[in-house]
Amino acid sequence: MAGQTEMPREAIITPANIQDSPTQDAVPTQVDWPTEEDRALRPQKMAEMIGQRDVFRRLEISIRASQKRKETLGHILLDGPPGLGKTTFATCIPRELGVSMQIGNGATLKSPKDVVPYLTNAEEGSVLFIDEIHRMQKSVEEFLYPAMEDFRIDLTLGEGINARTLNIQLKPFTLIGATTRSGLISAPLRDRFQIREHLDFYSIEELSVIIRRSSGKLNIKIEDDAAYEIAFRSRGTPRLANNRLRWVRDYADAKANGEITLSVAMEALEMQGIDKLGLDPQDRRFLDTILRVFRGGPVGLESIAHTLNLEPDTLSAEIEPFMLRSELLIRTPKGRCLTEKGFRHLGANPSDYLTMDSPLFKITEPQP
Ligand code: ADP
Repeated sequence: MAGQTEMPREAIITPANIQDSPTQDAVPTQVDWPTEEDRALRPQKMAEMIGQRDVFRRLEISIRASQKRKETLGHILLDGPPGLGKTTFATCIPRELGVSMQIGNGATLKSPKDVVPYLTNAEEGSVLFIDEIHRMQKSVEEFLYPAMEDFRIDLTLGEGINARTLNIQLKPFTLIGATTRSGLISAPLRDRFQIREHLDFYSIEELSVIIRRSSGKLNIKIEDDAAYEIAFRSRGTPRLANNRLRWVRDYADAKANGEITLSVAMEALEMQGIDKLGLDPQDRRFLDTILRVFRGGPVGLESIAHTLNLEPDTLSAEIEPFMLRSELLIRTPKGRCLTEKGFRHLGANPSDYLTMDSPLFKITEPQP
């Protein structure tokens, strides 16, 4: 059966040619594949990755153990906000194992027939990486259960009384799923991943190292305090750190003599509207809407999303996690509320906005 099914537009990648993305012909339209420069900056081996040390150590043990036992590595679920290294881990793992890799995206897997070619084409011990796995249809998810557990798929051929089931044995493979919305993964799917790792935001020191390394790869001179400043304003996220570095490099080339000093970095970031905490104009619009329209909250995410004309998913996966992490916002049973730090960051005085529903509202006993 293997090889008879038509390969989807994402390509098979062998250990020798693993890049971050499939070949140009194979690029699926729904997926934003990285540019050449992104590829140049992405670590090629797990040992080159900065930070996420605990995740790195645990994955390394599982990889070495599976190699020693000559067994297929267990399925891995990586979750965490965008830009923290899920795809980087997923592309480094097959290189460590010396196996081939296929890349798919949950958003394109709309029915079981979409996933069949990946499964039947999977080589022994190879990796199938499904990004945004939470976006897979339920029918695809259920179809994957026997594939993940017993490396078997059950295909139904024909309809009604003529229907018959064909069981196809697959070669053992490792599924790596990545998601920004682990809450949307059903318990039966989650439980079928033997290894589950959560990627957290990076420290400023870790991001500084990433920025200095990326500057080296991009051939730019950067002062240490400039690297630190860019790191400080990168929302704990390597992808943003690299994006901001590229902008600062453009600015330095156009306005200064090409060298990134602290003042060049600060001017460039300010010109892009990135504030002292690293929030960009969209992040601030999110906080500002809670402040002005909803008087600091509590307010439901859907209401904020409607006001901003954005998808609630974008807010909860991309914008909100860093706000919660930096204590500008809290989630309460009644909805999102600005914290005192959140009010102050917007230059507002909490007492001018508080409603009785706000967790900041306290009834102070009259002093005797
Ligand atoms: P995700 O899949 O979680 O959205 P990616 O793996 O695509 O994130 O990472 C985005 C970019 O950030 C990568 O291209 C890479 O350049 C950089 N990056 C991510 N994690 C690390 C890391 N641990 N060390 C160095 N660079 C990293």
